Amino acid sequence: MRCAILADVHGNLEALEAVLADIDNRRIDKLFFVGDIVGYGADPQSCIELLANIANICVAGNHDRAAVGLTDISYFNPAAKQAVLWTKSQLNEPHKEYLRGLNLTVVSIDNIRLVHGSPYEPQNWHYIFSENEAALNFNYFNEQICFIGHSHRPAIFIQNTDKKCSKHTDNRIKLQAGCKYIINVGSVGQPRDNNPKSCYGIYDDLNKEVELIRTAYDINKAQQKIIDAGLPEFLARRLKIGY
Ligand code: ZN
Repeated sequence: MRCAILADVHGNLEALEAVLADIDNRRIDKLFFVGDIVGYGADPQSCIELLANIANICVAGNHDRAAVGLTDISYFNPAAKQAVLWTKSQLNEPHKEYLRGLNLTVVSIDNIRLVHGSPYEPQNWHYIFSENEAALNFNYFNEQICFIGHSHRPAIFIQNTDKKCSKHTDNRIKLQAGCKYIINVGSVGQPRDNNPKSCYGIYDDLNKEVELIRTAYDINKAQQKIIDAGLPEFLARRLKIGY
């Protein structure tokens, strides 16, 4: 089984379409989405429709919940808040119903844990940036692999058989029996690791391998749509620098 794992599309249709085209050439059997379909970008409706059609499993992100009033946005920065309110105004009732129906965490039939922010208190949207933060989170799921998003920065954390936690430095990893993994698949629609290309993951359960892939997309077009929609200009600018 080969599975693509995507996160943090954030209403960026150009990025999502480019990633789906890339996936088409890679013999993928399943698609999992780990949250934030909407927020920031100019095409929330089209992104919901595409993902609702194609994803085998979809979990909720903080922006998905915020857009339907299910999470507090008082801690959102001003640009994110403005984008949430704009997104809310764009969604029809079936879109909202779809977002409301998404679970915070799901375990797939292949025994893979999927969550947007962290296995520990998924409703509180914690970030996992460091090895220490990852180490805590390994205590909160029993599966071998947990795929996450939320930080928009791809990362692979390993807990070895001695329960020691480390960060992997390559974008590809061979999974070892007895080890556990927290894998952040990066962001399709708003990467923040100084690489503007879309990021997503592929898990191959036969070869026991995970790879993080980068895909170019039409950034200029996505930027123009954000500006035309009257969303904060910063949200357009950041796409080009990947931050
Ligand atoms: Zn996000």
